[in-house]
Amino acid sequence: MSLDINKLLRDNIRLLKPYSSARDEFSGEAVAFLDANENPFNSPWNRYPDPRQVKLKTRVGEIKNIGVRNIFLGNGSDEPIDLLYRAFCEPGKDNVVSINPTYGMYRVAADTNNVAVRLVPLSADFELDAAAVLAAVTPETKIIFLCSPNNPSGNALNHKEILHIIESFEGLVVLDEAYIDFCPEKSLLPMLGQYPNLVILQTFSKAWGMAGLRLGMAFADEQIIDVLSRIKYPYNLGILTQQKGLELLSDEQKKTDWVAIILKERLKMAECLVKYPFVVKVYPSDANFLLVKTHDPRGIYQYLVDEKIIVRDRSSITLCEGCLRISIGSPEENATLVEALNGLI
Ligand code: PMP
Repeated sequence: MSLDINKLLRDNIRLLKPYSSARDEFSGEAVAFLDANENPFNSPWNRYPDPRQVKLKTRVGEIKNIGVRNIFLGNGSDEPIDLLYRAFCEPGKDNVVSINPTYGMYRVAADTNNVAVRLVPLSADFELDAAAVLAAVTPETKIIFLCSPNNPSGNALNHKEILHIIESFEGLVVLDEAYIDFCPEKSLLPMLGQYPNLVILQTFSKAWGMAGLRLGMAFADEQIIDVLSRIKYPYNLGILTQQKGLELLSDEQKKTDWVAIILKERLKMAECLVKYPFVVKVYPSDANFLLVKTHDPRGIYQYLVDEKIIVRDRSSITLCEGCLRISIGSPEENATLVEALNGLI
């Protein structure tokens, strides 16, 4: 399988000459940096950050076992989502196909970029039907967005169905693996070399506990990463994010321990929540949250707000009637939730 990226790219992006920053042109040691109109005082904050994020990418490459040239780092994974639209979808003409329900930013970024979204419903138990997704593709479809484990349903989508889509579609398939660390199914990352049309999104916001840093990843064929790098803001990751990210990524054991606690708590909470008379169903979860079907989502949501506990009301979302989405908190936070819910019996 080969990728003809020029066939997929928007004409203006193919022809675009990227901004070349001072730090792109020279990045070695020097006695005086007088090339970027920086203030000489207030070190180290006076200097622009590394636009190529070499140190951070090298570390990410080690952790993910992937080449630096296959990595894009952004201001959360929301940044590559937006850039993919900008690079590949002609506003008012092209479209993307996605599943319903799923993560809301695929649609927001589509609307921002004036790109139509063709939504394909998942089954009642949130399973993916590859044939239905492929049937929604038109000649103008440039990207298919999939999310596994899916938000808000929490389940991992069937690998066979995902692979069938990747193998059958000539455009890009974006697979959002934001919650992959909580999932027994393996990431598709090792298969990237086999599928040049596959873009995998991951984030440090979940298992690694760095949502506040804004650090997301896209992994793909070098040609795709090149395009994203050419159109990003030159200094999309600040010094603080790069430094702190590097520091926090040095302790992988911490992440492993947190994930173990969260998985234990997820099981405990699922078993506990299902016993409440107002709970209809707790959906199986491969993520760090539970989707819980209740008789009175709005009432329970408001009751919990009054108790100063905030969950997410997802009851107005397709296939999520009656549902609250509840993140797995610390053991103490989860105990507080249980105590509050006991007040509803
Ligand atoms: N993808 C999915 C499926 C998500 O649920 C979220 C956050 N809720 C994101 C991406 C966003 O991640 P980031 O913080 O890296 O922008």
